[in-house]
Parts: sequence; structure tokens; C-alpha cells
Amino acid sequence: MPESTVRIGLVLPDVMGTYGDSGNALILRQRLRMRGIDAEIVEITLADPVPDSLDVYTLGGAEDSAQRLATRHLIRYPGLQKAAERGAPVLAICAAIQVLGHWYETSAGERVEGVSLLDVTTSPQATRSIGEVITRPLIDGLTQPLTGFENHRGGTALGPDATALGAVTHGVGNGVGDGREGVVQGSVISTYMHGPALARNPELADLLLARALGVTALEPLHLDEVDRLRRERLAVGR
Ligand code: GLN
Repeated sequence: MPESTVRIGLVLPDVMGTYGDSGNALILRQRLRMRGIDAEIVEITLADPVPDSLDVYTLGGAEDSAQRLATRHLIRYPGLQKAAERGAPVLAICAAIQVLGHWYETSAGERVEGVSLLDVTTSPQATRSIGEVITRPLIDGLTQPLTGFENHRGGTALGPDATALGAVTHGVGNGVGDGREGVVQGSVISTYMHGPALARNPELADLLLARALGVTALEPLHLDEVDRLRRERLAVGR
């Protein structure tokens, strides 16, 4: 376990933070503190260069115009890309999947070059996907169903270097008819699940934290309120 403070990068909450996505950083911090580990959130706004030295990073969702500002900033200051290259865990929500891909097309039909951390491209779908989404996780270290709330017009197609986070059992996920949700590549885990995702999926939070701490796994925390929230949210899929 680290003797120094774990530093959690909250990337561009001023433009990317739909549906309380910034809460993901709070949850990471709280789960560390509950285990007696010092942690702090470093907010990186459009006024700051993106540092490459933090231990874990989170990015939230955004509307098309806000996500365009974020894309420009992340390309101009490639700290996130450098951190991901050295293996720092990154959690990217909704619009952030699109921003981190090769390119995305806005609902107005304009193509925007992305950061190219993920081998994905995103184009608008005929209809917006809105509602609860539940998946069966497809990556090692996750055993429990994942739950979130999706709201996106973009549909994301995965290239050969990217794999899905989950198999959809309720809702839409990456694109209508695709049956998969989220994108995993290197140290980046991305998902269309808002919620914020880590409030609903403690196993995912602890997976990111274990990677940030360089340990294989963390002892689970037993929190009745989180169990209750999960029971309630997962019931919509029955
Ligand atoms: N603007 C993007 C879309 O509609 C992402 C939306 C979001 O992050 N909620 O696909």
C-alpha cells in the first residue's frame, strides 16, 4: 500500500460531468479513505494543462458542444495519453468514450478528430438510447452485473484493439443491435453507464483502485446502502 496520498484526476468536470459523473472521483476517494488510505481529488479544468503524474483518472459525459471543447483540450495537453501509456487506470464515461476514440460524428453530422486512445469510432444512431442498462461483465476481476443509466445518440463501433466491458442483458449499450457495452483497451475502461457508474458498481471502483495501488485485489467493503441501491437498480432488468 502507498505511503503517500493517492491522487485522483477529475478531468474537465467543467465541460464533462453529465448526471453527476464527477461523483465517480468522490467514490474512489471515499473507498480509499474507508480503508485508511489517504486520497485527494485533483480537478483539471479547461484552464489547466493535463498532468501525466496522477494515480487514476476519471472523465464524465457531455453534450456534443462541450465534448468538442474537451477533445481539443486533451489533444493540446496530452497528459492523459501519457499516463495511460504508463498504465495509469482511466475511467471514461459516455461522451468520454467518443472523445478518446479516433473520431466521432456529432448529431449535426460533423466529424471531430478524437484522442485515439481507444480503437473506436462513433456515429449518430437513428434514435437516442435512453434508460437503464445492465450488463454481464466480460473482463477479469469483475463477477457482478454492471448497472447504469445510458443516454446517448452516438453509437460506438469497436476496432480490433478494443474489447467490450460487458454483454448487454437490459438496455442498448454501445449501439443498437450490437449487444455489447463499454470499451476496454490497455488501462482505459470506458462505459456508457452514468449513474455515477461507480456508485452502482463497487466492484468496478475497487478494480480501478487495485490497479492504481498496484495490488491484485482489495478486500471488499460491506456497505448496506450500496447493496440496497444495486438491488433496486438491478430489479428493472427482471
Ligand atoms: N453527446 C454524446 C451523445 O449523445 C454523449 C452524451 C452523454 O455523454 N450523455 O452520444
